[in-house]
Amino acid sequence: MPKEPIKTRELAAEKRSRDFSEVVLGYSEEEALAEASRCLQCKDPKCIAGCPVGINIKKFIKQITERDFAGAYFTIREKNNFPCICGRVCPAEYQCRKACVLTKKDSPFASEAAINIHFLERFIGDFGMKEGLKVNIEPDKKISGLRVAVVGSGPAGLCCAGELARLGVGVTVFEALHATAGVLRYGIPHFRMPRDILDFEIDYLKRLGVEIVPNFIVGKTNDLSDFLKEGFQAVFLGLGAGVPSFLGVPGENLCNVYSANEFLTRVNLMSAYAFPKFHTPVNIGKHVLVIGGGNTAMDAARCALRLQKMSHIEPDTTIVYRRTEVEMPARRLEIGHAKEEGVKFKLLVAPEEFIGDEDGFVKRLRSLECKLGEPDASGRRKPVAIEGSDFELDCDLAIIAIGLKANKVLTSVTPEIKTDKYGDVVVNPQTMETSVKGVFAGGDIVGGEGTVIEAMGMAKKAAFAIKEYLYKLLEKH
Ligand code: FAD
Ligand code: SF4
Repeated sequence: MPKEPIKTRELAAEKRSRDFSEVVLGYSEEEALAEASRCLQCKDPKCIAGCPVGINIKKFIKQITERDFAGAYFTIREKNNFPCICGRVCPAEYQCRKACVLTKKDSPFASEAAINIHFLERFIGDFGMKEGLKVNIEPDKKISGLRVAVVGSGPAGLCCAGELARLGVGVTVFEALHATAGVLRYGIPHFRMPRDILDFEIDYLKRLGVEIVPNFIVGKTNDLSDFLKEGFQAVFLGLGAGVPSFLGVPGENLCNVYSANEFLTRVNLMSAYAFPKFHTPVNIGKHVLVIGGGNTAMDAARCALRLQKMSHIEPDTTIVYRRTEVEMPARRLEIGHAKEEGVKFKLLVAPEEFIGDEDGFVKRLRSLECKLGEPDASGRRKPVAIEGSDFELDCDLAIIAIGLKANKVLTSVTPEIKTDKYGDVVVNPQTMETSVKGVFAGGDIVGGEGTVIEAMGMAKKAAFAIKEYLYKLLEKH
């Protein structure tokens, strides 16, 4: 008889949706041991291929069962620099857990019975953090002292910086914002990603010798070519995909129609949830509609609902999505949490027009009902609007969360860096090198919006290629 999966402890929905405390509390030691003991230790562990960076999942789970938590930590760290972060945000149900043999065949995402690999990873990551476990620093005498500039301090930039710093390379990270960590800090709310974890990881990088320069927009504050003049031998671009997409429907420019990026940045980076203690305000509607079905939409809706409750407004926040819940790209966990907290879902709905009042403030959303058609290029069934099915929803605050595109601030002034039709940087997939020698790239700026672990996987590959590039550079001189 297979053992039952161990659920992770969580704050109760009613309590947690009144503030920004972390929702998922993680496993205790006993719970981690019980969950790890469910692993079948397959001869051919499919889960490893399901992880974008190929963590030896079978091995680290075995080490947990042997109570060798430090060993498990170092097994994970061979491939993943930030297990505390990935254990919290990885969409494991589409990655390692989906590939687990305990997932039913042809299931669109992991079955409940699949091993909770991400919670085990989080347990081990948190153990490593608490115990102050450190991976070996292996300065490479040949390239020690050479300098690399990293642009952007999101997961891609931080991962690349860490990999190179461990080799003794002098790394400086240039970040446009005043704070580090990219989407992890300005997008993902505190209740999913506690800031002390980000601060811990960044402090660790600083202790490795990584220098971080905030408020520095590469392409505006300087020019990419300045890096070479200033003595950097290579550059890594981890620019992310920070430009929001819009629906392109009438009325989208009315007051109180936000992009999810602006809304989340105000709330999470500028602490608008604690206004007026912090200076940045954010408008809070009585009837909030969040358009989209990804992680960004869930985060925006759950923040909006919290703000309503914290402001003693009767909560009324609704996700509006063109397809059904099955096709939603958001993590299953977040969809479940949003529902438990009281976020409503209006599915198979295509927004057509925002309608405003005489002062220019949004008041309603006119939409069409949809049905599902044939699968599109993404493999998901396409929403088909039903003519004449118009209806209106009350809406005094709308948040558009339908995707993000490449930020072209840097690439528009460096045409020598080849980009594709979406503005994403084109790289050699083996080395992550761009069309400019010595300039590498990874993360969401390559191939568009992805996941944290994918961004880190690309950065790790780039760091390895940068090392090889530095070797060759030295050979020439
Ligand atoms: P980013 O995190 O975007 O970081 C890029 C950094 O570069 C930013 O700090 C930016 O300010 C800086 N920058 C840009 N241009 C310049 C310049 N010219 N000069 C200097 N600095 C510059 N993924 C998951 O795996 N799980 C999740 O649960 C999840 N939730 C998400 C929720 C939201 C709201 C969003 C928006 C995304 C989410 N994602 C999630 C996706 C994930 O966050 C991204 O795939 C990941 O952050 C990409 O990392 P990156 O380093 O490429 O880019
Ligand atoms: Fe799974 Fe993500 Fe951990 Fe890989 S990094 S094992 S995909 S949770």
